[in-house]
Amino acid sequence: MPTSADPAALPYADGDFYAFEQLLSGKERDRLAEVRDFLAREVRPIAVDCWNRGEFPMDLVPKLAALDLVSPVRRQGYSNLFAGILHAEVTRADASIATFMGVHDGLFTGSIEALASPEQQDAWLPDIYSLKKIGAFGLTEPLGGSDVAGGTRTTARKDGANWVLNGAKRWIGNATFSDWVVIYARDVADNQVKGFLVDTALPGVTTTRIDNKLSLRTVQNADILLQDVLVPDFFKLAGANSFRDVNKVLKVTRLAVAWQAVGLQLAAFDVARRYAVERRQFGRPLASFQLIQDQLVRILGNAVSSMGMMVRLSQLEDEGMARDEQSALGKAFATARMRESVALGRSILGGNGIVTDFEMAKIFADAEAIYSYEGTAEINTLVTGRAITGISAIV
Ligand SMILES: Cc1cc2nc3c(=O)[nH]c(=O)nc-3n(C[C@H](O)[C@H](O)[C@H](O)COP(=O)(O)OP(=O)(O)OC[C@H]3O[C@@H](n4cnc5c(N)ncnc54)[C@H](O)[C@@H]3O)c2cc1C
Repeated sequence: MPTSADPAALPYADGDFYAFEQLLSGKERDRLAEVRDFLAREVRPIAVDCWNRGEFPMDLVPKLAALDLVSPVRRQGYSNLFAGILHAEVTRADASIATFMGVHDGLFTGSIEALASPEQQDAWLPDIYSLKKIGAFGLTEPLGGSDVAGGTRTTARKDGANWVLNGAKRWIGNATFSDWVVIYARDVADNQVKGFLVDTALPGVTTTRIDNKLSLRTVQNADILLQDVLVPDFFKLAGANSFRDVNKVLKVTRLAVAWQAVGLQLAAFDVARRYAVERRQFGRPLASFQLIQDQLVRILGNAVSSMGMMVRLSQLEDEGMARDEQSALGKAFATARMRESVALGRSILGGNGIVTDFEMAKIFADAEAIYSYEGTAEINTLVTGRAITGISAIV
């Protein structure tokens, strides 16, 4: 019976079964290798410990800043395909660090890049790109999740040279330590959702950490209370004047979250395959049993089919042709496959699959948050259903 001592030496060790990475330019592949090396040295070794303690590694921030990861497409001229594969790789090392970056880069920086005026961008973006200022994205509310588009309860009232914000936000990633948070609030004058760059140190802003999470424990999510917060008019995002504008940001970040689902499946594949080759039962490696090979191949098939879909979607985004419902289907499909993949991976590790020491339990649990945020599976399914039938079943 042939066995392999070193699974990393096998062909397909990187899980890229159809060589999608070859679609990247040489410069992009070099950059990917540089980031992979960083993740292996600086992120993966600390990821389980941070997760167990539920603490964000603040000393990683200057290192991420030195790596210059923020805004690879708009600022650095890389393709959306590269940005997607890169985000999957960060997730593969640790979904919490990927979520930190997804919030700061995709949601927060994406809001400023898409919706701020050139003057506002000049004033804010340099510190945002260099991670001197860390950002958060405040859309969800205690009473407004899936229906937040039409149901934003946080209010904004123009008062002379200021806006006055009142309300509450929930689940806001990075907000316990971020310098800024973009708050989306309903203008009482015209009932439209508008965006504001809010300094978290302003009087009236209170952030409270959400404790006892079973998923993405390293990410610091917060409840935010806004009580008569005075925001100078310059900090109202010039181009954020209705929920349609917010959707411009979410369309791109939904794509990034679907790439997270690819990355987490590759992580499950990495850990399960290595374990199956190394662990012996009945005098032979687990990987020698046909039922275990079937489970590994199902994880790989799920990961590769999700990746294929995301590769094409990112190419469409590069061509300026990706549509909301295509992002929605990608997110719904890839996260459903992810849930199956991480459950298979957990099963392959047996009892060791439920302790984080073997990494798989963290991967398994992290999938749950990714399944729900950035539009739940149900909502993304209904967005797609509306597109193919012309009938909305959301309400
Ligand atoms: C770890 C984490 C990080 C997050 N980070 C942020 C952040 O940084 N900023 C931010 O603004 N938000 C953030 N969120 C919020 C996230 O986007 C919401 O959790 C998500 O949109 C779902 O809203 P909800 O949790 O209120 O669920 P609900 O909307 O209450 O939904 C509950 C269930 O009902 C289903 N449902 C709702 N409506 C329908 C319908 N019409 N038809 C069928 N089923 C329906 C949903 O699919 C879901 O299964 C985060 C969430 C998590 C868990």
